Amino acid sequence: MSFSELGLSPRILQALTEEGYTTPTPIQRDAIPHALTGRDILGIAQTGTGKTAAFGLPLLHLLAESKGRPPRGGCRALILSPTRELASQIADSLKNYGRHLGLSVFVIFGGVPHGPQRRALANGIDILVATPGRLQDHMDEGSARLDMVNALVLDEADQMLDKGFWPAIRKILPKLPSKRHTMFFSATMPAEVAKLSAEILKDPIRIEV
Ligand code: AMP
Repeated sequence: MSFSELGLSPRILQALTEEGYTTPTPIQRDAIPHALTGRDILGIAQTGTGKTAAFGLPLLHLLAESKGRPPRGGCRALILSPTRELASQIADSLKNYGRHLGLSVFVIFGGVPHGPQRRALANGIDILVATPGRLQDHMDEGSARLDMVNALVLDEADQMLDKGFWPAIRKILPKLPSKRHTMFFSATMPAEVAKLSAEILKDPIRIEV
């Protein structure tokens, strides 16, 4: 199986070739065709399985196809991640995979000044990768609005639970439109994580690797 059989656009396939990717990993092979149809995804997968591209490639493809504009003060797609390191890695990967698409990718996390993040949000962002705590700060101070988000990814949901981000996530999620595309990834499925996934996913494909 090659990437060209999964339904991704030529500009994404070109970036993958440039990255040296030839064969999709199992989670990519199983998730990408479903995600491209807008289907919700429940992925039970560890880091190192290629899960970033499993959600990132369909996200980039669908955003590029839909030709919407980034909304001022907000974003078109939101990816929540437990740590600044993971958030930065996801953003870097998406910039690579999407290098021929002209979409904006921005990352926000805590421990750094709010100003540059506030300005990026004000301009509008196609794909925002954020840790939940700092995103909640921006929402509380009125510098982030999430009512235009049409795709949501929760990555490493179990880590976000362990790191105490559940209250922030519980505040963030109701601010998103209920009609949206959701992809949910976790290495393990403790009860609280399973409960949240059941609440926010609609008729998901469950993929375990
Ligand atoms: P991830 O699990 O998303 O953190 O990816 C783990 C590593 O595998 C990263 O360094 C990716 O760049 C790399 N990777 C992901 N998918 C592929 C693929 N299909 N072919 C080669 N490398 C890949």
